Amino acid sequence: MKLIPLQQWVCDRCGEIIQKSSDGKLEWLDERVNSESHPGNLLKFFSIIHNRSASYKNRCSRAKGSMIFLDEDLDYLIGPDGLAELLLFYRDVEDPSEVNEIVRRLHIPYYEEARLYRKAAIADGYMEESSATYFHQQASIKRLIEKYSDQE
Ligand SMILES: [Zn+2]
Repeated sequence: MKLIPLQQWVCDRCGEIIQKSSDGKLEWLDERVNSESHPGNLLKFFSIIHNRSASYKNRCSRAKGSMIFLDEDLDYLIGPDGLAELLLFYRDVEDPSEVNEIVRRLHIPYYEEARLYRKAAIADGYMEESSATYFHQQASIKRLIEKYSDQE
């Protein structure tokens, strides 16, 4: 799956390509919205998905349940101002690694495509699960894409 770096993403809900930033949104759960008794540090379940106008019959939005999800257009979360915006999540997030992943997906070139091949690379022994930190560097990301992108 070829993606234009920092302009296209894979929807966490339907698995199809979000063709441009204006077609996508970031969604997350804020426990404080759902329960008045909760203290802070309760933002979680971050996902990048198609927005209402880009998803067929709105199927990519979370099914209506008892919990309320908040969202923000991807257009507000890319570029320098978007990065500044994303960093604010760390104040209240339950698990910082969730925000780390979103920051990488929206701000590290080729990361979004490379993450498609991570499972295969680990299964092959090309990459160890414990070496995931090195995998964020451009050279490693590009090597991974080169090796796995034509194996689809
Ligand atoms: Zn979708």
